[in-house]
Amino acid sequence: MITFRRASKAAIKWASLATLKLRAAMGAKARYNCTACGQNVVGFFRYGDNARWGCPACGASPRQRLVAYLLDSGVLKVPAGGRVLHIAPNEAGLVKRFSAQTTDYVPADLYPEVYALKGVVRLDLMQFDAPENYDIIYASHVMEHVDDDAQVLANMFAALKPGGEAWLIVPLWDRPTEDGHGGMSQRERERRFGQWDHIRQYGPDFADRIRNAGFALDLIAASGIDASLRERHALDDVVFRARKL
Ligand SMILES: [Zn+2]
Repeated sequence: MITFRRASKAAIKWASLATLKLRAAMGAKARYNCTACGQNVVGFFRYGDNARWGCPACGASPRQRLVAYLLDSGVLKVPAGGRVLHIAPNEAGLVKRFSAQTTDYVPADLYPEVYALKGVVRLDLMQFDAPENYDIIYASHVMEHVDDDAQVLANMFAALKPGGEAWLIVPLWDRPTEDGHGGMSQRERERRFGQWDHIRQYGPDFADRIRNAGFALDLIAASGIDASLRERHALDDVVFRARKL
């Protein structure tokens, strides 16, 4: 479903990207750096309310750059020989990073056929039953799509080895989480949750849902990172690191 709001967001994004390309062509200094692809860039393109959203070289989002930064700085650590499950593996920079960290990298999605990436396995998180299989589960902008997030969090908890971690990112607003229901139309979802296939919109209480599934939780926010690094890499967003002790 393409709404006017979505179409105008896309138009502004492309205009902003074109401006960056023109500035680069005219010799503007590449003062910034994308942690996802490693390229130095003249700036980042606008998307929605974020004036410094996308990398002009690889398209990486602020959250993708944040996770790449956390990998670089060793905050997100894949244990030697560790098994990594990457759900919705549409972030090329991170696919590369995770694959470089371990030979046991498993990209997965409910709809593997939509990916150009080879080897994506079919995984329905609602039916996910793989006890103590993974060291790291990474799921960015996934939880707002699943039918029953308590069930999915419980399944993730079970699928992690002891000491394993789920790294979760969701769209957030500052109000309490609002859950949708089965009868909601796509138009209603788009209006309330910003996208036709979002089942809910999370608020800060997403943290409680994670803890209720048995996890210990750390919040890792871009705002806590040194300002000059945050500026250089245009880092943004918050990661929920859910640890199975
Ligand atoms: Zn990039």
